[in-house]
Amino acid sequence: MTQTIHIERTTTPKPKPAANELGFGKYFTDHMFILDYEEGKGWHNARIVPYQPISLDPAAKVFHYGQTIFEGLKAYRTENGKISLFRPDMNMKRLNRSNDRMSIPPVDEALGLEALRQLVLIDQDWIPDAPETSLYVRPFVIATEPALGVSPSQQYKFMIILSPVGTYYAEGIKPVSIYVESEYARSVVGGVGHVKTAGNYAAGLKAQEGASALGYSQVLWLDGVHRKYVEEVGSMNVFFRIGDKVITPALTGGLLPGITRDSVIHLLKHWGVEVEERLISIDELVQAQKDGSLKEMFGTGTAAVISPVGSLHWKGEKLMIGDGSTGELSARVYDTITGIQNGRIEDPFSWRV
Ligand code: PMP
Repeated sequence: MTQTIHIERTTTPKPKPAANELGFGKYFTDHMFILDYEEGKGWHNARIVPYQPISLDPAAKVFHYGQTIFEGLKAYRTENGKISLFRPDMNMKRLNRSNDRMSIPPVDEALGLEALRQLVLIDQDWIPDAPETSLYVRPFVIATEPALGVSPSQQYKFMIILSPVGTYYAEGIKPVSIYVESEYARSVVGGVGHVKTAGNYAAGLKAQEGASALGYSQVLWLDGVHRKYVEEVGSMNVFFRIGDKVITPALTGGLLPGITRDSVIHLLKHWGVEVEERLISIDELVQAQKDGSLKEMFGTGTAAVISPVGSLHWKGEKLMIGDGSTGELSARVYDTITGIQNGRIEDPFSWRV
C-alpha cells in the first residue's frame, strides 16, 4: 500500500436509528471512502469524506452498460467490546475477480482493506451492539467515464459505504419455502454468474417477484444450459444433507463462490462431516426427498449466514425437507459461524480480523 488516505470528518453527524428500526440497508453512516481511477494515472486520491450524494455525468458508462461490481461483508461488535470483520481479505480478492471479469482495473487489495478498516473505525459508533446486529460494509466500483462507446471505461470510482443492519431473524432462525425456478435462468457458464455485478441481481428480480407473489420467499436457481443442475437459492449458496453426507454445487462458473459457503465447507470437514462439491440435479434431489434421505437443506450468505429451507415447490408438488423445521446440522453451523463472528466462541481458523 503506497497511498495515504486523506480524512475529512463530518461536522454534522446524523442521529442514529434505534436497534429495532434498522432493517437491512436503510440507514447509512456519517462517512464514506472514495478512490478515483483515470487511465494513465491509475487509482489515486484515496479519501474518507462525509457521506453525501455524488454527481455523475448522465453519459457515465455505468448507467448504460452496467460496468460495475460490488462486495458485501459485515463488521461486528464482539462481546468484549472489540470490532471484528469476518475474512475481509476474501472479499477483496473476490472484488478483484469481479473487476477482472468486468474489464475494470484491479484495486490494490491492501489499500482496500486499510480503507475499510479506517472507515469502520471512524464510524464505529454506528456498529449496533444488540445481539446479532452488525454494520454491513458495501464496497463497489462504478465506471464513470462519460462516453457511449461500448468499451471499457477510462475512469472509475471505488467507494465503500456502511449501513447498520438489524437481526436477520427477529423471531429466531426459521425455515423458508422455496420455488424451483424453471422459466428464468440466472447464469450460464462463461457468463457473469460467478462474480458480483449489478446485472445479475436486476435480472433475478423477475423470478423473485413471481415467487413472492405465489407466497415463496426465494427461488431455487437451476443452471441456464441443461436447466437441471441446482446452483443457488436466491442470492445464497446452497447445501443439502443427504444421508450422512453434505452436498453443495461445485463452482462450475455459474455460481458465486460465497465466503460463507467456503467457511461452512471448512467447518463441516473440521467436524468430520463428509462434504461433496459436485453437480446435483433437481431429479436427484426429488429422488432423495422421496426416499427420505434428504434430511436438511440450507442457503448460506453474509446477510443471513444460514437460511434453512423447509419445503420446495417443484412441478406442482410441495416437497417437505425433513420435517420442515430447522435441521440439527443447520442450527449447529449457524451457531458456530455467528459465534465466531461475534466473538462468542473460539476461532480455530483465524477468520476473525
Ligand atoms: N450467491 C450470490 C449470488 C450472492 O450475491 C451472495 C452474497 N454475496 C452469495 C451467494 C453468498 O456469498 P457470501 O457468503 O460471500 O455472502
